[in-house]
Amino acid sequence: MAQKTIQTDICIIGAGSGGLTLAAGAVQMGASVVLIEKNKMGGDCLNYGCVPSKSLLSVAKHAAIMKNAWHFGIENMDPKVNFSKVHDYVHNVIETIEPHDSVERFEKLGVVVLKAQARFMNTRIIQADNTHIKAKKIVIATGSSPFIPPIEGIATVPYLTNETIFDLKKLPSHMVIIGGGPIGIEMAQAFQRLGSQVTVLEGMKILPKDDPQMAEVVYQRLLTDGVKIIEGAKVLKVSNQSKTIKVMYEKDGETQEISATHLLLAVGRRPTLDKLNLDAAQIKFTPKGIVVDDRLRTSNKHVYAMGDAVGGYQFTHIATHHAEVILRNILFKLPTKVRKNTIPWVTYTDPEIAHVGLTEDTVKSMRLKYKVLRWGFKDIDRAQAEHSAEGGIKVIVSPQGRILGVTVVGVHAGELIQPWILAIEQNLKIGAIAKMMIPYPTLGEINKRGAGSFFTPLLFNERVKKIVRFLLRWC
Ligand SMILES: Cc1cc2nc3c(=O)[nH]c(=O)nc-3n(C[C@H](O)[C@H](O)[C@H](O)COP(=O)(O)OP(=O)(O)OC[C@H]3O[C@@H](n4cnc5c(N)ncnc54)[C@H](O)[C@@H]3O)c2cc1C
Repeated sequence: MAQKTIQTDICIIGAGSGGLTLAAGAVQMGASVVLIEKNKMGGDCLNYGCVPSKSLLSVAKHAAIMKNAWHFGIENMDPKVNFSKVHDYVHNVIETIEPHDSVERFEKLGVVVLKAQARFMNTRIIQADNTHIKAKKIVIATGSSPFIPPIEGIATVPYLTNETIFDLKKLPSHMVIIGGGPIGIEMAQAFQRLGSQVTVLEGMKILPKDDPQMAEVVYQRLLTDGVKIIEGAKVLKVSNQSKTIKVMYEKDGETQEISATHLLLAVGRRPTLDKLNLDAAQIKFTPKGIVVDDRLRTSNKHVYAMGDAVGGYQFTHIATHHAEVILRNILFKLPTKVRKNTIPWVTYTDPEIAHVGLTEDTVKSMRLKYKVLRWGFKDIDRAQAEHSAEGGIKVIVSPQGRILGVTVVGVHAGELIQPWILAIEQNLKIGAIAKMMIPYPTLGEINKRGAGSFFTPLLFNERVKKIVRFLLRWC
């Protein structure tokens, strides 16, 4: 086949959250861009990650509300779940968003999109099918894939991952999920609420990156939903017996066994670097991802890497942040570095758990002086009105009121964390949040009340009382 060569300013490998953001930004700012994607435009987030998982959770939340409507004086209903239609709903959401990430949209913007597997031929040239791309800068945005743990028997059993679970058209009757991180826990709640029996096997504790006291609120809700959670469980072996999958695990020194109809692996991610031929391009990498500096430059000065492919926190908003950093570095030669200490994340269970900044454990390990501020949704009128009073906010502040970290667990925690992200990014002190005028009754009052509690001991004490009484004498 005849070889074709394209010369371009930027060649991006991977059209997921990171690659697409970078391509759209670069082309609209005047660079010529080639974008290479071997699979579906939109990558993990649109097709096998954020979008289908949040759609499924939304369906499951509606089912749970029907089952517990009696709180509002409405009789409970046992929802009849038509799982094939649930599948269609999830895929309709993907299809609705798809045009935004499509080849057509990017070609209209002026990007040259190649649907092919990309590989390095040498330090400067990429091959995609019969096309050679010579670019001033190359960006690797190849994302990550589910990690398949080396459990005995794993190759002999049918298992699901995030790449296949959203294709199910029949509700599993009993699903065992190995892994209690955000992906495993979100799927556990969704499937349990839709009618599956779900068992989570987790080697340590579920949601290990979150504040344990706050994660406990999610844990308790999962138990109420009926999810069986086995923590401290080390999976030893899996096997296939007629129509069931047997999972053998060790807990507290004892070997135990559980049978299920379906097995979901959610034990982490590995960067998708295979077939890239990174050695030919002299790009250093480890099993955790491509090695990059603070500006996302690899060991090859012509090549940058971003998103899940570089390991660390693997979120869509990190991939899009990386795109902004690379744009500034490549197009404007601004030596911009990636942000490290204001990374927010949310697990979209019901209740949600959201975090930004440092956790109490990290602050302790850094031997910093700190105070903990708390406020519960039970004292927020809007939460009471909506029968959503579980959970609350926990704010870690320095004794001088510098905001170090915040966790919210409860209804819409992912939205409520946002002023705190701004506050930490802008180095605002706790008073900035405490002083905000918040419309009543809104859930956002929890932020003001939590922040305001910093000043309670400073305002309501004997010294202030004496001063006030003294001043009132002159009224
Ligand atoms: C179930 C699940 C739920 C999630 N939920 C959330 C969430 O709620 N919020 C959040 O922020 N994050 C979430 N994430 C994480 C989020 O999806 C990822 O962090 C994000 O997609 C990473 O973007 P990326 O651009 O680095 O990679 P991807 O989106 O994975 O894109 C990489 C692309 O590169 C392509 N590619 C790979 N190798 C090659 C090659 N050699 N040649 C050509 N193309 C190639 C792939 O086909 C893919 O399309 C979730 C992930 C999962 C699995």
